[in-house]
Amino acid sequence: MAIIGIDIGGSKILTASCNRRGAFLFRARINTPQDPADALNQMTEMVRAAASRAADETIDAIGISCGGPLDPREQTVSPLHLPQWRGLELGRALRREFGCPVRLENDADAGAFAEYYVADAGISRLLYATLSTGLGGGFLVDGQIYRGCDEAHPEIGHQSVQLDPDVKSVVCSCGAVNCLEALISGLAIERRYGKKAAELHRDEWMEVGVLLGRGLRNAAVMLAPGEIAISGGVAVGGGELLLSAARAELERNVHIVPCPQLRLSRLDYDAALWGALALGFDAANIMPQILQAAAAERMSGR
Ligand SMILES: [Zn+2]
Repeated sequence: MAIIGIDIGGSKILTASCNRRGAFLFRARINTPQDPADALNQMTEMVRAAASRAADETIDAIGISCGGPLDPREQTVSPLHLPQWRGLELGRALRREFGCPVRLENDADAGAFAEYYVADAGISRLLYATLSTGLGGGFLVDGQIYRGCDEAHPEIGHQSVQLDPDVKSVVCSCGAVNCLEALISGLAIERRYGKKAAELHRDEWMEVGVLLGRGLRNAAVMLAPGEIAISGGVAVGGGELLLSAARAELERNVHIVPCPQLRLSRLDYDAALWGALALGFDAANIMPQILQAAAAERMSGR
């Protein structure tokens, strides 16, 4: 029996499988097809390949992490960066094909789920943020995903933050002004600095870190998390330079609630994929903590 995890991003789809004891069996990557029918076909093939590594080639459950917006109850996805996928009935298609439980969550919630269960964060109020092409976040209360009304996923990337007087305002794709995502996501960095995040100088990373810190400060005083874990290509690229600027901003301005620790995710770039696997284990009624050993082994092998 295999448990499958699928992490759907704007440019790539990752699939992995584990057996019921949490041993890692398979991992594959494809470029994300723009056409939804093509995407479903290719994902089905990847799931079959992932299941073929299990002893009896059967599937216990499938967990999926996908960029929002999505509906976790109906299991439909409409990822912002894939306009042709609007309302794609992903959960239903995979349940029909494989006849197993499917669990689907926003990729930031999936990452938070993995940080809690797979990386063993052990923090009862965990705020998780992912800073890559976009900027999202998830908040876990005793390991449960916090949801808004109608199952809405709260969007910490779409809060306005205060800008210094010499910085030009920007209108975000959501319609609001000076959203954190419109200022410091990978796409925003390219627009504002005319280069990729990987090419930023020290001072530019510090500017990005200050804005990140202002946004995290707002979230920290409203949610009072015990810890903030951050993942994603831009966060990993900025590393301690980015984090130290954000941390200084937090420490300067969070007094009314305990100031949370800010650190990189222990799962690095693969947080959402581990999240998808962990969701699959949860859907199969197996404790996702069983993945801790496999994750630790793969992370130490880097
Ligand atoms: Zn916005």
